[in-house]
Amino acid sequence: MERARSRYAQPRSARLGALVALVVLAGAPACDPGPATPERPGPDVVLIVVDTLRADRLTQYGHSRDTSSHLSRLTDRATRFEDCRSPAPWTVPAVASLFTGFAPGRHRVDAVGAALPEHAPTLASDLQRAGWTTGAISFNPHITRGAGFDQGFDEFLGYRGKAGRAPDLRAMTRRALEWVDDAREDGAFFLYLQPMNVHGPYRVPDDARSALLGRPPREGFEFFGPLMQDLMNRGRVERRDEVTAEMLESLGEQYDTAVHHSAVELGRFFAALDERGLWDDALVVLTADHGEELFDHGGFAHRYSLHREVLQVPLFVKLPDQREARIVTEPVSLVDLRATLAELLELPAPASGDGRSLAPMLRGDPIPDALRDRPLVARGSNPTRFVGRSIRIADDELIVIERSYEGVENAVRLYDLAADPEQRHDLSRGQPRRVEALRQTLRTVEEERAAHPLPERRYRLDPALRRALEALGYL
Ligand SMILES: [Zn+2]
Repeated sequence: MERARSRYAQPRSARLGALVALVVLAGAPACDPGPATPERPGPDVVLIVVDTLRADRLTQYGHSRDTSSHLSRLTDRATRFEDCRSPAPWTVPAVASLFTGFAPGRHRVDAVGAALPEHAPTLASDLQRAGWTTGAISFNPHITRGAGFDQGFDEFLGYRGKAGRAPDLRAMTRRALEWVDDAREDGAFFLYLQPMNVHGPYRVPDDARSALLGRPPREGFEFFGPLMQDLMNRGRVERRDEVTAEMLESLGEQYDTAVHHSAVELGRFFAALDERGLWDDALVVLTADHGEELFDHGGFAHRYSLHREVLQVPLFVKLPDQREARIVTEPVSLVDLRATLAELLELPAPASGDGRSLAPMLRGDPIPDALRDRPLVARGSNPTRFVGRSIRIADDELIVIERSYEGVENAVRLYDLAADPEQRHDLSRGQPRRVEALRQTLRTVEEERAAHPLPERRYRLDPALRRALEALGYL
């Protein structure tokens, strides 16, 4: 990574009292670069977005396999949001929302080739402007400079190859630690990582393939092999009958092995930060951009539906010096993270946005009304395979399907999440008034967003990326 000094460093005298103490503590080990400078803002902030990690495959969210106890250095002393939703079932709009605090209906970075506008307000820009040294490593080929995701980062390491061939997380954390060792000399840093092992084809290095199950995952399921291509990308839904129990078992094992490997490597990364004296005082966020369907509703992968398994993501937030685990059950969204970090870090609140600060929940304060029962909207925008919207208010969730890979057109699905969290029973036929009320609220929210959008921008895909995305059904 090329290193450029922050152009925006400025004194942060307002926070000095507590922060100088914090810096002295953090700088105590032998490799202390020198006395803390009073200009140092703080704390260090680490944001990890594990691509395609659905919440319920983590041990902490109730998964029966021990996929993620290696994350305990974080999860034993973080707030776990039990019910965090992504506003979109794929990377580009989800990360755009996480970065900007705008919903997809407003930022419109919701297609392959769509880019964040220049000078987009982002989390990284907020932190850079306030004096943090900012760095990013993304192995997702959508999250690139060309698409404008580098805005606000002093250093941005992207990956331009095929999604399924992204480098391993070990390469990412090695690089990240080199960057940290350099960046910490300048003061507080903000590091964002987006690893890809949990994205198909669920690649795990040979020496780690037996770590979860005592043997490598069973073979039998081929990520976007001919059968999956036919089923998901050519609309041949009758081939669903050929998906066997052995294939599902294999898929689940492959996915969980990738989750476990990611947890092991992230656990090592957290330990390395701890060894450097950087862990206790850091603000750490671990989440995902979206989930993955593992045939929960007869399909596979993501960007083909708006069911829970593709929208519900893990969210852990460890505040500086937090010692105890907490749980928040109220539904929240990735859209909330920018406003949350702004409040926690005493940055100027975003001038506008669709998210709400979750800081009261993290502090254990009473939950404000604005965070209760608000509509959480998601949209699917895969032109040939799934176009639709969903709205969630409290326990009601309505999915409005314009068209889907299954050949469904202009249909709705209504679920009662309290009685039916896995969304097995569509209630829409028996409850037309509930459907209409949710549909009307959805329309109102989407119209308001469409009336005040960010400027639109597009970029040219290079041919290799275009071919790779075509092969995965993205185009
Ligand atoms: Zn993704």
